[in-house]
Amino acid sequence: MSDVLQTRKLNAGYGDFQALFDVDFEIAEGEVVALVGANGAGKTTFLRSLTGLLATQGQDITFQGAPIAGLPAFRIARLGMALSPEGRRLFPSLSVEENLLLGATVGRNGYWTLDTVRGLFPILREKAAVPATLLSGGQQQMVAIGRALMSNPALLLLDEVSLGLAPVIVRDIYAALPQIRDSGAAVIMVEQDIGTAMSVSDRLYCLQEGRVSLTGRSADLDRAMLSAAYFGKTRDVA
Ligand code: ATP
Repeated sequence: MSDVLQTRKLNAGYGDFQALFDVDFEIAEGEVVALVGANGAGKTTFLRSLTGLLATQGQDITFQGAPIAGLPAFRIARLGMALSPEGRRLFPSLSVEENLLLGATVGRNGYWTLDTVRGLFPILREKAAVPATLLSGGQQQMVAIGRALMSNPALLLLDEVSLGLAPVIVRDIYAALPQIRDSGAAVIMVEQDIGTAMSVSDRLYCLQEGRVSLTGRSADLDRAMLSAAYFGKTRDVA
């Protein structure tokens, strides 16, 4: 399987503050890769660097075989990368359906349409005309993911899906991952909950203070290793 995305020695930050240090990362077609780490470890900064929301001039980021560092966010989106952001960022005055349709205005044609997204999350059909922000937190999360899917991304970035949601809702949402993967998209999921991250991902990276402190196949890792990687030394489980 070929890599959808690869970074080599990615550095990023805010002004004089460096938040990421030499991050080497790759994800192949059809893979679900979790990115975990403590608050402030750099997970969101990493996603922002990939999407072009944070300037990464001169960095080494390859997306579907082409360098993308320094491209504006809308061009990277058009190439097939979509972000479901932390906090969901839905348009409050728009209905569920209108929020979903907005996702289709960038990106490409493909498997994901209003119909297939509603097949994935049937509640979104029922709530089509309801203002998005009147939905429950879990339903809003489904809209945010659905909106990202509407652009038919080759790479879907999920930032903190589980934030503020009950475990049973989180499980329902992550149950959509196999179908998303079958549609051909690779998925990077930022997740605070280690157990969830380990159980739904193929591989995992742990960031600690901006550096990769652990990487490996999720099935080969255990909680003790991961806990150490949150605060401890760099390790690589091949
Ligand atoms: P969380 O789980 O809290 O979202 P995170 O792993 O996503 O954490 P980031 O949000 O990427 O971490 O933050 C990494 C570092 O960059 C932190 O030290 C944070 O304070 C800093 N940082 C994040 N955003 C900004 C910003 N806009 N300006 C300055 N520093 C920032």
